[in-house]
Amino acid sequence: MLLRHTTAKEIDRKALTVNPAKTCQPVGAMYAALGLHGCLPHSHGSQGCCSYHRSALTRHFKEPVMAATSSFSEGSSVFGGSANLVTAIETIFTVYDPDVIAVHTTCLSETIGDDLTQIVSKAKEDGKVPEGKTVIYCNTPSYVGTHITGYSSQVAAFIKFFSTATPKKKNVINLVAGWMEPSDMREIKRIAGVMETRTILFPDMSGVLDAPLTGKFEMYPLGGTTIPEMIATGDSKFSIGLGAYSTEDACVKLENKCKVKFEVVEIPIGLKATDRFIISLSRHANVSVPDSLTEERGRLIDLIADNSKYFYGKRVALFGDPDTLIPLTEFLLTLDMKPVYIVTGTPGKHFDDSMAELLSEKVPEAKYKSGERADMFQLHQWIKQEPVDLLIGNTYGKYIARDENLPFVRLGFPITDRPGHNYFPHVGYVGATNLTIQILEKTLDHQDRTCPESKVEFQL
Ligand code: SF4
Repeated sequence: MLLRHTTAKEIDRKALTVNPAKTCQPVGAMYAALGLHGCLPHSHGSQGCCSYHRSALTRHFKEPVMAATSSFSEGSSVFGGSANLVTAIETIFTVYDPDVIAVHTTCLSETIGDDLTQIVSKAKEDGKVPEGKTVIYCNTPSYVGTHITGYSSQVAAFIKFFSTATPKKKNVINLVAGWMEPSDMREIKRIAGVMETRTILFPDMSGVLDAPLTGKFEMYPLGGTTIPEMIATGDSKFSIGLGAYSTEDACVKLENKCKVKFEVVEIPIGLKATDRFIISLSRHANVSVPDSLTEERGRLIDLIADNSKYFYGKRVALFGDPDTLIPLTEFLLTLDMKPVYIVTGTPGKHFDDSMAELLSEKVPEAKYKSGERADMFQLHQWIKQEPVDLLIGNTYGKYIARDENLPFVRLGFPITDRPGHNYFPHVGYVGATNLTIQILEKTLDHQDRTCPESKVEFQL
């Protein structure tokens, strides 16, 4: 029993989080920055923070993640890291030649109170930023928020520093990508392609964190939203944000700055969320939905109908990020499953409101919680009080799955102990098909292993 000290009995905790369902803000800022072509993320703080953030991303994506650090020492930790950052900017442009440096802060530089606007201005005045190159920045103190907050701040910084409106709007739709896998971004672009829409997806990690092995090292892989595309987002006629927590801030900033109206929908995980995304894109781009997408939808419904007996009434516990959990909960309800325990470390009212709306009638006994004290320890306690049939979440769930002998579907960030998550999408009808098959495989494997011999089935 790896988690043998977890008890079923809950004690009210006010100042303790055990096994949080989140990670720190700069991880999200670093991930989002990698979705801009030719951009080098820069961590303004100690080397330890940067190493952790890089390794968290590297372990998940199985790809080298490049990032620089201001490398705070004792002196900079006390007197501020201004000199370190100015030197770093000069060194990075000289040695690594990115088009953009995306600086994000850490707990340490925020506690000191380093003013990035002033420091970057000084670097420019001192001639450390070459012509045609850009330094952007955002604040990501990790004693508040989570990796999702950091991601959101970085995406909003793209708008602040690049998006520009000219007098002429173009027939282009911005697709603001919430935190999802490179495979999901590739699938979103494929859907936009078959609908024959002109879109700009940002950030775009496809081709960056799932780049092919060519035998040649590329400091800046071919993928990513280009800077001209990012600038042009100000001329698009509409924006669709995918996931309120990761993208709403950027959408609001773009409307305020460039008068681009927007709609925020859920990340298209599952049948209904995909329907809403496709309807939104179809309406705002003024295109019809092609038969090929309707057929993909039909195949998903066929799969669900064929296997409905394996889903019906199964109790599910899930944890992770709110932009994933909201549409995932909805999809589990579509499958006639019962999402009974849902936990996210990212705070926010939208999660609680969405869960209340989704669950109050269909699963009134469901427990859900968001914010700092919503941790995996509590999720495990709930499971001990009344067991579930399936657990869905990132790699950290494997301890609970092992101790409670549960089928476990890996979904979310980080997944460090299995490959594949960054190759097979979970968005769109194709992604929902992948997810449905994953759920079936895990639950049926578990059933085959644990049921009485007389119940072993040879055929579905
Ligand atoms: S929580 Fe703060 S100190 Fe720790 S790694 Fe993240 S930014 Fe650095």
